[in-house]
Amino acid sequence: MSGILVFCRDCGKQVASSQTKEGRCLDCQVRRSVGDLRDEHARLWRKRERYRSQNANVEQIGRQIARTEDRIAQRIKELVPNDREAVDYLKRELEAARGQRELEAARGQRYTIKGV
Ligand SMILES: [Zn+2]
Repeated sequence: MSGILVFCRDCGKQVASSQTKEGRCLDCQVRRSVGDLRDEHARLWRKRERYRSQNANVEQIGRQIARTEDRIAQRIKELVPNDREAVDYLKRELEAARGQRELEAARGQRYTIKGV
């Protein structure tokens, strides 16, 4: 572990200055860098749910979601040179995105049951 500790300007976490870029820790760099793709991922996910509820074909949207996930992986790899760490970051990003969707779905379900 080398050198000086600094505070990340976004989350305030203390990290080695060698791991920061523009004053941000790696976590925050990754989060910022994939932000727009995560929004895109969320948008496609909602679209797929909507289509599915109308029994429409969701295959193409599924492919778009997979492509967005590939692009998220690509950006993470640019920031995180270590492969294993990159995979961890990717998992975390996708789980966060999916967790959010599942929560929304569960909430929707609850209302459905309540409305019966
Ligand atoms: Zn940070």
